[in-house]
Amino acid sequence: MAIIEVSNLKKSYGTLEVLKQITFDVNKNDVVAVIGPSGSGKSTMLRSLVHLEEINGGSICVDGDYLVKDGQYSSPQELKRISAKMGMVFQHFNLFPHLTVKENLEMAPRLLKKESIQDIQKRSVELLEKIGLTNWAQSYPARLSGGQKQRVAIARALMMNPDILLFDEPTSALDPELTGEVLQVMKDLAKEHMTMIVVTHEMGFAKEVANRVVFMDNGEIVESAHPTELFENPKHERTKAFLNRSL
Ligand code: ADP
Ligand code: MG
Repeated sequence: MAIIEVSNLKKSYGTLEVLKQITFDVNKNDVVAVIGPSGSGKSTMLRSLVHLEEINGGSICVDGDYLVKDGQYSSPQELKRISAKMGMVFQHFNLFPHLTVKENLEMAPRLLKKESIQDIQKRSVELLEKIGLTNWAQSYPARLSGGQKQRVAIARALMMNPDILLFDEPTSALDPELTGEVLQVMKDLAKEHMTMIVVTHEMGFAKEVANRVVFMDNGEIVESAHPTELFENPKHERTKAFLNRSL
């Protein structure tokens, strides 16, 4: 069952067409890896899904609700409600530097005031344990390694109980020895059947964890297939050329 349906998504910056009528579905429990050269529109595509970018045409439907239909956005309340089904993890963590790890986790749910502080704290304790940072709860982000920061960013996204997690190159800003701990948290989430879209250069992760790989180039989805198929038997010349450069 499709939990995200994107059709004919168009996005331009001025005269630059960044997304050219993109269409794809993501099923519940899918782990979709999105690969492609720099500038191909991967970040713009993710940011459009959570309404950090306004698109110029097409539709985005999340769990049966249209964020935008044929270029017409839903009401502000609807946009908020629908966007809240998705959590986003950025390349540069985007933690609040003046808040402790625990405060980073609890801030958004506390502002939302939809549940008791006890419930929020219970979840932050659980999530800190899950990412192995219980002893860092009272630390400020500056004290953490890049890998630890990114694990906190993932936990912070999970605090909002999203149905879908979007990752934009979550390990690209990390020293190579720190990527493993972040990928491990993501693998654990995949095992728990979290629906995820992961923009990544980590081909090993894509092969091992994703059940679909989408190759984007120049604002288009060139090819989308099971990782074994896409990596071992790419259909398009552009995919082949990209993989030859990347593997
Ligand atoms: P990727 O994530 O695949 O590297 P992006 O989605 O970041 O690609 O960018 C796609 C294209 O859009 C690039 O040519 C980039 O320069 C351009 N672009 C991205 N954001 C903006 C912006 N805010 N204003 C103008 N051009 C942008
Ligand atoms: Mg990008």
